[in-house]
Amino acid sequence: SRKSKVTVVGSGNWGSVAAKLIASNTLKLSSFHDEVRMWVFEETLPSGEKLTDVINRTNENVKYLPGIKLGKNVVADPDLENAVKDANMLVFVTPHQFMEGICKRLVGKVNGDVEAISLIKGMEVKREGPCMISTLISEQLGVNCCVLMGANIANEWLKWRLLVQIAVEKFSEATVGYRENIEIAEQWVKLFSTPYFIVTAVQDVEGVELCGTLKNVVAIAAGFVDGLEMGNNTKAAIMRIGLREMKAFSKLLFSSVKDSTFFESCGVADLITTCLGGRNRKVAEAFAKNGGKRSFDDLEAEMLQGQKLQGVSTAREVYEVLSHRGWLELFPLFTTVHEICVGRLPPSAIVEHSEHK
Ligand code: NAD
Ligand code: 13P
Repeated sequence: SRKSKVTVVGSGNWGSVAAKLIASNTLKLSSFHDEVRMWVFEETLPSGEKLTDVINRTNENVKYLPGIKLGKNVVADPDLENAVKDANMLVFVTPHQFMEGICKRLVGKVNGDVEAISLIKGMEVKREGPCMISTLISEQLGVNCCVLMGANIANEWLKWRLLVQIAVEKFSEATVGYRENIEIAEQWVKLFSTPYFIVTAVQDVEGVELCGTLKNVVAIAAGFVDGLEMGNNTKAAIMRIGLREMKAFSKLLFSSVKDSTFFESCGVADLITTCLGGRNRKVAEAFAKNGGKRSFDDLEAEMLQGQKLQGVSTAREVYEVLSHRGWLELFPLFTTVHEICVGRLPPSAIVEHSEHK
């Protein structure tokens, strides 16, 4: 049968890791074309050069993943339409706030037989209610869309990928969520799996995607606790309460969400790693240390240098859903995170207001 051609839409920290991982597999697997195209949101570097030119010349994303070779078969392309035109497998991995615009630009531009997967954590809130990013992709482009989420912070994941070369076999895991077609899910599992990156498919797109999305809100809470130097017992309590709210919120939105999904990599494991070592945690810690006096936008720009936080906007989006449906009191942790982020409550409110039986 025909070989599959993969395009990665997005090229940030995780986008670049995803492209590298996929490109190492397409070289080995005969059912995929070797070349992996990567759409890059073009920018001019301080040197005056275009980011795509530098990626194609050096084989490195010098801005978002410096020091790591992506693989010679990764081709950076600044033209979105051109990047997707021959692909029949599309991997979406941009900060969630840009996806509505990207989807609009792609309407009518993708092949009829395209399969999509979203690695994006977040949702859109519209007048008619919340819309998961995989649904946005699926509805706007008329394609089937799986999701891949899990306990893999890009920078740490790369550290051990390099270590693997000297035979330290650290492993991590991820979860593919699919709707109906197990064969398609297996195709994605094949594309992403390595001996040390174990991917499991579960039939619960919404559950997997909501886990990935909501844990970023809990990570903000965990960062506040770190900034206030409250210790591990408090942080563990916040994580437990957060996990409960993740599950309750997911099930209220989609009754199909399965309990077992929260025990997959996308659930409790991603929650733990993000609360220990993620960007949301790190910036929220700095926010609390500054007593909430410096805004998240400010801290994000200074600390992440172009990388984007998802937790603060997700907290706002969750808050909109909760207030619209009259559920605020059922979700004290989610509600409090948003109120702290916008300055209505001090960071210390995270423990005073989040109590949950
Ligand atoms: P990032 O935060 O490192 O980088 C930001 C990206 O946004 C850059 O590629 C930048 O070029 C692009 N960008 C800036 N302005 C833009 C615009 N107007 N339109 C389109 N693109 C624009 O990105 P990332 O870490 O690859 O995150 C992408 C998704 O992956 C997010 O949903 C994130 O939650 C998820 N994710 C990240 C990690 C991680 O460890 N970094 C792990 C798992 C999942
Ligand atoms: P951070 O963005 O907090 O680093 O977490 C990684 C991730 O999974 C993003 O959603």
